[in-house]
Amino acid sequence: MLIESIVRFTLGIKDHRVVSVKFEGNELRISLDARKRRKLPCGLCGRRSYVKDKLKMRKWAHVSLWGIPVFLYYQPRRVNCPEHGIKVEAIPWSLGKRPISFPLITVLAFWSRLLPWEQVAGLFNVSWNTVSAAVEAAVEYGRERENYKGVRFIGIDEISRKRGHTYHTNVYDLERKRLLWSGAHRDKDSLRRFFQWWGKERTAGIEGICCDMWQNYIDVIHEYCSEAVTVLDKFHIVRHLIEAVDKVRKMEAKALQETDPQLLKGTKYMWIKNPWNLSDKQKIRSSELLKMNLKVVKAYLLKELFRKLWSYKRKGWAARYLKQWFWWATHSRLKPLRDFAWMLRNHEEGILAYFDLRIDNGIVEAMNNNAKVISHRARGYRSEKTFSLALIHSLGKLQLPICQHRFS
Ligand SMILES: [Zn+2]
Repeated sequence: MLIESIVRFTLGIKDHRVVSVKFEGNELRISLDARKRRKLPCGLCGRRSYVKDKLKMRKWAHVSLWGIPVFLYYQPRRVNCPEHGIKVEAIPWSLGKRPISFPLITVLAFWSRLLPWEQVAGLFNVSWNTVSAAVEAAVEYGRERENYKGVRFIGIDEISRKRGHTYHTNVYDLERKRLLWSGAHRDKDSLRRFFQWWGKERTAGIEGICCDMWQNYIDVIHEYCSEAVTVLDKFHIVRHLIEAVDKVRKMEAKALQETDPQLLKGTKYMWIKNPWNLSDKQKIRSSELLKMNLKVVKAYLLKELFRKLWSYKRKGWAARYLKQWFWWATHSRLKPLRDFAWMLRNHEEGILAYFDLRIDNGIVEAMNNNAKVISHRARGYRSEKTFSLALIHSLGKLQLPICQHRFS
């Protein structure tokens, strides 16, 4: 029968045959059996071995046909492997113990990188949990085939979920621009879990780590990877500086409320944005304001002067400039700038380490935007575990399972 040949073709089976295809209870039931008197591959090593016995019937969800759910039924055989003893055969359409066929995993995992999981579930007539299980299987599959050799520079960053109510710690491979690991929260244990998974050997290969001035991360890096150079991410540093400038603006605007409430109105982004990104209208307004003796102008100029730090080629010169800037900021009589300067002083080593390795988390920013899209895409990742899974699946550059027939 035609449909049986199609099943055989799409599953790519040679040692098994289709016994029957039945339409029952609104589903298509495909019964499979092992061909008689044939050696089957051992589930552990793939070596062909004699069949010993069969196990009880198992059921796998398969790619639906014309919107009709399809299931595979089969009694797995146990083989007598000369090396491993009695083991379950390597079932060609199965991946581990999951009740989902390998082709279905492939199809669901492929579309889950592009669409919200609810939509994938609807498209293929399966439940949300099946999609989640398929993604989990695909990530496992991809990670088994990825040895992560030669990862030298990693970036650690957190992203917020649920409008900042919860955080996730993400670890990136800065050279190959991919997400290596993601886990809930941003406490010490979050990062410890990464290093435990990553293992001693691979940790020894890490030369540089880039992260924010977040003490939890810094402490755990010292605990597990003290050999590596810790570089504090320059984008995060600048973000802290921008916050300080904005605090000055707010304080001054408040002080001006009685005398000149219009003066600083709507200028927030003028002080924050890079000068070359201002609109023409903003440029005119800012050139007028810059002539005035304002606190926010002073803060703005300090921020612009700080930018020069990154252009130094030699660490010694950068250190000298940083000292100079520290003096300016601490004598500026602007508390937010002074606080920022002291924060720099306390993290000087990590800031200047940039000039040893020149790594930053620039690519992480771009990837985090993708992560945010993923996060918005599904209000329902339901748990932290599935959210991490979705991130790794989409940003991990892992190999997807490949099957003989492309269903999509
Ligand atoms: Zn074996």
